[in-house]
Amino acid sequence: MPQWSEQTLASFERKAKETKVAVMVTGSIEAHGDHLPLGCDLILPTFLAERIAQKTKALVLPPIPFGESWPMDVFKGTVSLRAGTLLMVYHDVMKAVFRHGFRFILALNGHGLNTPLLRQAAEEATEGTDGTVIIVDWWSDLAKSVRAQVLESPEGHAGEDETSEVLAVRPDLVDMKVAKGARVRTAFRVVSASHREELLPRGVYGEPEGATAEKGKAIMKKAEEELLLLVEQLEQGKLPITEK
Ligand SMILES: [Zn+2]
Repeated sequence: MPQWSEQTLASFERKAKETKVAVMVTGSIEAHGDHLPLGCDLILPTFLAERIAQKTKALVLPPIPFGESWPMDVFKGTVSLRAGTLLMVYHDVMKAVFRHGFRFILALNGHGLNTPLLRQAAEEATEGTDGTVIIVDWWSDLAKSVRAQVLESPEGHAGEDETSEVLAVRPDLVDMKVAKGARVRTAFRVVSASHREELLPRGVYGEPEGATAEKGKAIMKKAEEELLLLVEQLEQGKLPITEK
């Protein structure tokens, strides 16, 4: 079980020689409706990272729980880091990983607003090194074919897709009795601190009523397979690049 935080100095030195890949989970703690836990965006990629830790030699860093969640910050329980804070955290972690000799960081991201910050941190952290960061927005980059087959409504936030996934992984944390859909659309990008509750009612954008554990299990299974392939490819020093 190559979990970074469980190694001793001696075992870390040994394990770090056996792999080129470190996995960095980035989540968020934010409202996901009345029916899902605040940590959805942390729980789901952490589940996948644990599978990587069980099945490969890649070293899995402790997840970074907090993300940039300003649009949800109006709801109770949300803990959001400012973009500048998060950028520095990502950058410092990436720099440390490269300093310890890793060639690839697989940033397994669970939350959309983290993506531009991961990208910026990666640009700065890889500059002048031969390190590479691969950012995987797991909910949209993985298991696309299965999502298209099993989901009946478009992807969202706390919608059918995410609710199914949490039902698959942690059913004890889901209360389907209070699952209620909402999908507020806006023309252009409306940014307003005082209108956040109406822009994303209860943190929901989607139709969770159609969620099932079976749909979630199919998605998570495929996502895991695709991630294991990616890690295998990186261990061989190959980037996920193809020519048309
Ligand atoms: Zn989410």
